[in-house]
Amino acid sequence: MTRRLATALALLALALFPSALAEAPRTFFAMDTAMSVSAPTADAALLDACEREIYRLEALFSVTDPDSEIARLNAEGSAALSPDTERVLRFALETAEITGGALDVTLYPVVRAWGFTTGEYRVPADAEIAALLENVDWRQVSLSEAAAALPEGVMADLGALAKGYASDRLVEILTEGGVDSALIDLGGNIWCVGEKPDGSAWRIGIRDPLDPASVVGSLSVRGAAVITSGSYERCFVADDGAVYGHIFDPMTGRPAESGLISVTVTGASGLQCDALSTALYVMGAERAAALLPDLDGVEAVLVDSGGALWVTSGLKDSFTPMYAYQTAEIHWIG
Ligand code: AMP
Ligand code: MG
Repeated sequence: MTRRLATALALLALALFPSALAEAPRTFFAMDTAMSVSAPTADAALLDACEREIYRLEALFSVTDPDSEIARLNAEGSAALSPDTERVLRFALETAEITGGALDVTLYPVVRAWGFTTGEYRVPADAEIAALLENVDWRQVSLSEAAAALPEGVMADLGALAKGYASDRLVEILTEGGVDSALIDLGGNIWCVGEKPDGSAWRIGIRDPLDPASVVGSLSVRGAAVITSGSYERCFVADDGAVYGHIFDPMTGRPAESGLISVTVTGASGLQCDALSTALYVMGAERAAALLPDLDGVEAVLVDSGGALWVTSGLKDSFTPMYAYQTAEIHWIG
């Protein structure tokens, strides 16, 4: 085919299909992580709308952007909140309540002191941690309609659940745009819209926290979020060789050592799955296993440091342990 003919055909195709369909995943970097949206039947404009939505939410929630609603709340002690920020903060406080404070958005000054928001990692002295913990208490957040306030010294961060909420928003945008099959991956926070284009279930691998090249197993999923929390996702090695992860125990002000090394939560709300993945990680297997049967609409796969799995019984038919975990002990929950 001559180049001129090829160009003419391409122009004709553009004229017939003004918004070319996006076969390739849309990838971009936001909220401090690599993201991708794979929706073969979505046109470029719809994927643009998804990308814009992420940047819009990042501009509301970012703790490091001084113009965000959360940064203004932290700097000024009070701020007007848009419906998105209010919704996520309210959900965070509700999750704090049911998890005995394992999820606590006011941990931010502690997380920052360890360098997790700046990348300047360090191990704060015990006295520094103790002083910062004085101001850690989610009950100190006053949330009213469209506004929030914090006492002096208290600061908040929605990082433990922002990506889950963002994934729900993308599902809404894609679904309203007529998409019935898509895979959203916001830095490991997955949302499987509908089923695969060939009509089969999505199969999502849960990464092996001890061997990132391998998986613990796979989950068959239709129309649900699959969200994992693990310290291995973001951690640093201190001078003494100890590894410190980014999920913190609000009781100690130190990286959580609950005996769990990975928590995956799946369900129809990315916001709920994200909030719970972090909280259950902090709570540990026993407390998580006691709470999970009381929660509607979520299932979970927990991996403990001894290599055993804790899996809610609702996943009996959809979770398949793989590789080293085929012989792992499984504690069924509920
Ligand atoms: P995730 O990856 O969803 O588990 O969220 C972890 C992020 O949430 C961390 O990078 C911190 O910014 C923040 N965080 C860590 N521990 C907690 C906690 N116990 N409660 C609330 N936020 C936390
Ligand atoms: Mg989370």
